[in-house]
Amino acid sequence: MISLREVLKRAEAEKVAVGHFNFSDLVGFNAIIAAARDKKLPVMVGVSEGEREFTGVRQAAALVKAVRDEYDYPIFLNADHTHSIAKAEAAAKAGFDEIIFDGSALSFEENIKQTKKAIEAIKSINPAVLVEGEIGWIGASSAVIDKVPEGVGGLTTPDEAKQFVEATKVDVLAPAVGNMHGMLASMVHGDVQKRLNIERIAEIKAAAKILMTLHGGSGTNDDDFRRAIKAGMTIVHVNTEIRIAWRRGVEAGLAADPNEVAPYKILKPAVEAVKDVVRSRLELFSSR
Ligand SMILES: [Zn+2]
Repeated sequence: MISLREVLKRAEAEKVAVGHFNFSDLVGFNAIIAAARDKKLPVMVGVSEGEREFTGVRQAAALVKAVRDEYDYPIFLNADHTHSIAKAEAAAKAGFDEIIFDGSALSFEENIKQTKKAIEAIKSINPAVLVEGEIGWIGASSAVIDKVPEGVGGLTTPDEAKQFVEATKVDVLAPAVGNMHGMLASMVHGDVQKRLNIERIAEIKAAAKILMTLHGGSGTNDDDFRRAIKAGMTIVHVNTEIRIAWRRGVEAGLAADPNEVAPYKILKPAVEAVKDVVRSRLELFSSR
């Protein structure tokens, strides 16, 4: 089985990105796998601390392992936004491929200190796990929000990125480049789109020379996605868009027949809705 590092290196060389999608249940998980297999593309699935609490840490790892074993498929599991060393260690022990240690809410110096500690702890359990670090504040939740959270909008500088990467030795970097977690209601309707600072992405890539992740992809302008990937983004995260699709699908499934009680029948439209989002994003991220 090809490693995540190898998949990312190839994507980086080809200037395409690997899609990263979060899940909390089998609806999301099965939809992501089905879309990726349709497109014959490698895929990353992620569980945040909240999502992991719901799925179970080892259960999430077992789902991914089952797909790998059954289809020999390049699917990789990421511990999204991990804030404590204990939770990072639990993910490493469970067999996650990547762990994001998110110290972005800390001061720059404290973030470096804590990220170094996390890397040491994770790599002592399994040196093959990729560790991603974050700098710059882009908000916290994959939700529909009323207004841009305070402090969001500042950009990571190339110097900061270089310094952080050299000091911590992270494998992957998540900078702030105009991206944001969650979506404004106007973005859900499509009236407003997130715009990225492509020039800054290219500058950070040149300075830090590292694999990079674009967080908070939901609601981003398609052309900005393409240009951001060409400029150096190798992983792109989408969560809020699939949560919205999940909810709409569940609502449609419940409305279709008030007497239906079989969950797998009720939830079918939700699987289709999530699958459509993942398929269209994967097409965009892998276009050359
Ligand atoms: Zn994120």
